[in-house]
Amino acid sequence: MKAIVKLKEGVGNVVLTDRPEPSVKKNEVKIKVEAVGICGTDVKIKHGTTWSNPPVILGHELSGTVAEVGEDVKSVKPGDRVVTETGNVVCGHCYYCRTGNFLMCKDRLSIGYGVDGGMAEYCVVREDIVHILPDEIPFDAGSLCEPAAVSVHAVYDAVKVIPTDTVVVIGSGAIGLLVAQLVKNFGATVIVTGLTQDEGRLSVAKELGIDYTVNTQKENVGKIVDDITGGRGADLVFECSGSVPGVNTGMSLLKKMGALVQIGLTKPTMEIEYSMLTAKQISLIGTFGHKWQSWDTALKLMQQGKINAGALISHRFPMEKWEEAFDIAESGKGIKVVIFPNK
Ligand SMILES: [Zn+2]
Ligand SMILES: [Zn+2]
Repeated sequence: MKAIVKLKEGVGNVVLTDRPEPSVKKNEVKIKVEAVGICGTDVKIKHGTTWSNPPVILGHELSGTVAEVGEDVKSVKPGDRVVTETGNVVCGHCYYCRTGNFLMCKDRLSIGYGVDGGMAEYCVVREDIVHILPDEIPFDAGSLCEPAAVSVHAVYDAVKVIPTDTVVVIGSGAIGLLVAQLVKNFGATVIVTGLTQDEGRLSVAKELGIDYTVNTQKENVGKIVDDITGGRGADLVFECSGSVPGVNTGMSLLKKMGALVQIGLTKPTMEIEYSMLTAKQISLIGTFGHKWQSWDTALKLMQQGKINAGALISHRFPMEKWEEAFDIAESGKGIKVVIFPNK
């Protein structure tokens, strides 16, 4: 089968090549991949700037059709439309596994970098992380279930949002625009920020009903938040950029006793104005990935049209054009780039 593979560590070493079609063990499901999104993580693996376990097939944001199931599999059957979580290899009995927080398991290997992922004609995963994709959700939008589940985990599990809150979302990529929609669902006033290169993304945010979009290279976001809140500051900030200016801006925009939820992956160490924590009694909350329930919730929200993930797809490519697809994903020109491995 065709697959996009990281062959060995280092810069590059990613190719479109032939790989043996995987077979299923007793508790596994073989998915014919219909759509797979390119994540920032895939781009970083290509450049060798984040960990991977080569040789490994990339891709962890996929949707597809069940092609085959192992003899013990009960919950899905061939022909079912599905999506899959990412934590494929876990111990299965630790505290985190038992509570559906598979990504916190010390033995975890995720698809797309720890073990083979979805940038291939077929992908095999364990039954426990497979979810039925409702008919109302097309396969391309279904490939955004993973970032939607990440966003659900960050908004629903980290803090409480109420309708009178003013909430700043820093970063206007797929996660930022999903988080913004989820927060908007609570009736809060939402401000999404981006840079000049993100103008296209900010206009999509506007179309999705986000109250304010701010290009921080042209406009003073602090003044805008002060105007909206009468000088008090934002109740909550969701930091989706992972950048040093993003974190520092987020902390400075917060009201006293506000909370910043960190979703964007940051460098291991960075210079932040840590004294604001005590001076303003700020809460800093880290969030990562998703749990089983985040997927269940994200799928219902997408099925009921309460979040629009499909609107974030800016580019579509067949496998053969994977290099162009990766270049566009990296350039930040679009929002979400999706590859179709079986077209
Ligand atoms: Zn991702
Ligand atoms: Zn475990």
